[in-house]
Order: sequence, then structure tokens, then C-alpha cells
Amino acid sequence: MNIIQIYKRFPTQQSCIDHLERVRWDNTPTCPYCKSTRQTPRKNTNRYHCNSCNTSYSVMVGTIFHNTKLDFQKWFLAITLVLNAKKGLSARQLGRDIEVTKDTAWYMLMRLRKAMVEYGELLQGIVEADETYIGGKNKNRHKHKKTKGGQGRNTKDKDAVFGLVERGGKVMAQKVNKVDGRTLKTIINRNVEEGATVSTDEWRSYNGLDGKFEHLIVKHGAGIYVDGLAHTNTMEGFWSLLKRGVIGQFHNVSSKYLNKYINEFCYRYNNRNNNQIFELTLQKALNI
Ligand SMILES: [Zn+2]
Repeated sequence: MNIIQIYKRFPTQQSCIDHLERVRWDNTPTCPYCKSTRQTPRKNTNRYHCNSCNTSYSVMVGTIFHNTKLDFQKWFLAITLVLNAKKGLSARQLGRDIEVTKDTAWYMLMRLRKAMVEYGELLQGIVEADETYIGGKNKNRHKHKKTKGGQGRNTKDKDAVFGLVERGGKVMAQKVNKVDGRTLKTIINRNVEEGATVSTDEWRSYNGLDGKFEHLIVKHGAGIYVDGLAHTNTMEGFWSLLKRGVIGQFHNVSSKYLNKYINEFCYRYNNRNNNQIFELTLQKALNI
């Protein structure tokens, strides 16, 4: 959905709240504290009095919208803008788009990122594994990851990021402290179905994968990028999307928040063909 459709479908604050109540409660208000459905609506508010535990609550309690003073239309538009922003959306841009301050937009984005987390199923079929670096000095990279002409251009600390992608399926990626065999293989073992095919470059951390998986190796060091089914081009496509976002929109993300940005990019990528992504994101926002 684009912002015009959202704007028309949810023209008022009340229409947004009604929708959230439908999504969260299926129109049966339920106390978030004691789970009772015995309640009395409070007049002229969107709050309910729980007749079981005597508290009062609204649909926002315990969700990413808890205590928000912003109009829900702005939240709904923000969700739509973020979901449609392939290369990510900066707080500055979101602030301009929905007329809130940059700080408010930043806070909204951080909250929305909590909803944009996925708990993955095991990856199957042919899975590409690859590492990359965000920021940092080229000279500190492992030789096979150096980029031409990049020497000394980046001075900030680098972060290593490791990713797995099922060809035609989902991606997962995370910041890692090391790119040694133990770290990378632990992640692969946890996230890839046994017996699947894992395609990597010749980096030595991937040695020994052939015990549990079929291991395809493409020799980047020899200038080979595709060798039959052996390649990491899908993963590299994701890296370039992520890097354009991080460098272009976020002007070097602080290492502390990097995983949140990575999750956001994975979430968008994994739902690229999901036309219910707005509803899915609302559900996730409400079930936190
Ligand atoms: Zn209650």
C-alpha cells in the first residue's frame, strides 16, 4: 500500500484506533494485565475499565505505541513509508514527510524496528553464506575482501557482518565480532537445514562445512565469480542494498544500532513479495 491508500483508508484518529482494536482483539477488548474480557468502555475515550482487576487500559498498552502522544495517522504513514523505502529512511526524511521533529522521527523508527524483527525458519535448498564489512579501513580487511582503491578512505571503525540467504527465499544477517570458523559455522549450523547446499567463497573459515552440508566453493581469489551453482551473488546483492542504505541514509550507523538497521533491511527483503506486509507489521507492533 502507498501513503495515499493508507491516508484514505484511515482518514481519522478514530479509524486508526478502531482498526488496531480489530487487529489486536478481534473487537473483543481484553485486559492486557489479567486477560479478562469483562470490561466497561469509558465514555468518550478509547479506554476500558477492567471489571476483573479494576485497571483501565487502551489498545496501546504493552505495544510499541504505548504512551504515544502522536496521531495514529502519523504512525500508519510512517510504517508505510518505512516499508516502501528499499534503501531505508532517515529520521530527517521521515520527520519532513510526516511533519514531526527529527528526534520524534528517530524515536518512531527505533520503535518500528522492534516490530520489524523476524524469527526465522531454517534456510533450505541452496544457501549462500558471506561476510562483509560496514565502514572501516580497507587495510584491516582479510585479503579477499579488499576493495580496489579503497585504501585509507574510511577511517571509522569497521563492523563485520555475516549473512545467509536461501536462493529464492529469505535472508538473515547479523553483526559478528569475529569472522573465524567457529563463529561463522555456529551461525550456519543454527540457521541452515542439515543436508542443504551451502555456497561460499574460499575463505578458510568455511572449511569443514562438508560434514553436514553440501559445500560449493567459488574462488574469488582466482577472479572467478560464478562457477556453476557456486556463487554468492544473491548475498552480495543484499550487501549492496544494505550498504547503500547505511552509507546513503544513515551516514555511518553507530555500531550499537547496526543490528537494528540490518534487521530492518532483512525484514523488507524477506517480505518483498508479501502484499499483506502493512497488516503483518501492525500485528507485530501490537504483539510486542
Ligand atoms: Zn484486568
